[in-house]
Amino acid sequence: MNCRKCQSTDFVKNGHINEKQRYKCKKCDYQWTENHKHRGRPSAERAFAVFLYCHGLSMNAISKMLDTAPSTILKWIRNFSNQHAHPPEPQTDAVVLELDEMWHYLKKKQTLGLEGVLS
Ligand SMILES: [Zn+2]
Repeated sequence: MNCRKCQSTDFVKNGHINEKQRYKCKKCDYQWTENHKHRGRPSAERAFAVFLYCHGLSMNAISKMLDTAPSTILKWIRNFSNQHAHPPEPQTDAVVLELDEMWHYLKKKQTLGLEGVLS
């Protein structure tokens, strides 16, 4: 783990907030809490990365777009296929629907061309 502001590893534990461990950077005095249950990027961003990959963008391109390591993108794609390779559970419906709508939008865009979508 690094300081979220200056990436320094020189930090100390600094009490608790809402039962979460709080840390304080010794270099820049920035304080933050680490939530182990919800680490990483929001699920919408992960779904978007998978969506881009499914439509032909390379992992390198996506990693540059989202400022994330290509290995992380690969992990998201693997997780996504593990979760959605079987019939979706109720709480995953929203993501599937959203991706489907985006796909229809792109198809429309391809059919009509950019002018058709803008008019
Ligand atoms: Zn710092």
